[in-house]
Amino acid sequence: MATTLMDTYGTRPLTFVKGEGVWLWDADGNKYLDAVAGIAVCGLGHAHPQVAAATAEQASTLVHTSNLYNIPQQQQLGDKLVELSGMDSVFFGNSGAEANEAAIKIARLYGHNKGIDTPTIIVMEQSFHGRTMATLTATGNRKVHAGFEPLLKGFLRAPFNDINSIEQMAANNADIVAILVEPVQGEGGVNVPAASYLPKLRDICDRQGWLLMLDEIQTGNGRTGSFFAYQQCGLLPDVVTVAKGLGNGFPIGACLARGAAAQTLQPGNHGSTYGGNPLGCATALATLNVLSEQNLPARAAQLGSFFLSQFKELLKGASCVREIRGQGLMIGIELDQPCAELVAKAAAQGLLINVTAGNTIRLLPPLIMTDEQAQQVVDILVPLIKDWGSSDATSV
Ligand SMILES: *Cc1c(COP(=O)(O)O)cnc(C)c1O
Repeated sequence: MATTLMDTYGTRPLTFVKGEGVWLWDADGNKYLDAVAGIAVCGLGHAHPQVAAATAEQASTLVHTSNLYNIPQQQQLGDKLVELSGMDSVFFGNSGAEANEAAIKIARLYGHNKGIDTPTIIVMEQSFHGRTMATLTATGNRKVHAGFEPLLKGFLRAPFNDINSIEQMAANNADIVAILVEPVQGEGGVNVPAASYLPKLRDICDRQGWLLMLDEIQTGNGRTGSFFAYQQCGLLPDVVTVAKGLGNGFPIGACLARGAAAQTLQPGNHGSTYGGNPLGCATALATLNVLSEQNLPARAAQLGSFFLSQFKELLKGASCVREIRGQGLMIGIELDQPCAELVAKAAAQGLLINVTAGNTIRLLPPLIMTDEQAQQVVDILVPLIKDWGSSDATSV
């Protein structure tokens, strides 16, 4: 099957034909509990009625006009995002990588405006920022780089959650203009930094005149228990990027900025043909309205503590489990060995999970999950992990 498609995704063993809430169905009518949500995208679950109605209504009214013209839906969505984020202004693109491209361009232009000819951005080990040339360069994963050299200039890499290394870079490099970092690393294995990490980065950026740029593409839209993860740290970044959960599956991304960063791009500096079109903006606006009306960020926090406490309690003493960590509905269960085969084992029991960074089970459930469904995830996953651990021990 699929021989005309470039082989960028490897084997894809499942095919879904329909979704509703936390459920997906394959063509044979088998039903799956979805704890992946399209990789942190469908926070409201599948086929959410309010979002579907907004998309359908806009699709039958006006899909696209281009940014040659005013787009009221773009203005409304911008207003809503500014209100939710505490930022000043927004640029819309169509994906996470594009949101980060805008952030990187803002940082570089901000640097040039200060007279820095080779502006440099600090990025982290194990980070993920996308697959375009600039964002793959920013990504801290050798596998994402390999074969695509030469990479871009103007990036410096630091270990994640390590303030000293940033201080050293500050002392040794006058070209630094910004730090780009995920509040919780997603693809890198659900890595949660110390609570003091972002505040300390904020302090360094303030002292140095650097931009603090947070990639909230995965952590944003309520997933970590607040609308944006930085809102749990009592600070504001200079630039924030969002995508994934923003359109509940409709491709849309945004780069938000504040203060000097919000004033950097001028007419002609940046653009997108599709970015912020009426259809995408109407869909995202409906998504944000449901997220706030139903107070779903708080629900993500509540469900997240349920999952963490259940897994910590029920997997206590399972020798294959190295660490259980997470924030809100980004949950990672790190095992002692690569565990990709658990994805198929869980699917065979009607549960969709993801494995990232080789050995970490990652759960990114929709924020609308009920208590009962969350219990079901635990009931399927815990014995599966225990069995995997013990069969593995006997086979060595
Ligand atoms: C998914 C992701 C991206 C890339 O988003 P795309 O829409 O795939 O381009 C960037 N940063 C983070 C943190 C992500 O999780």
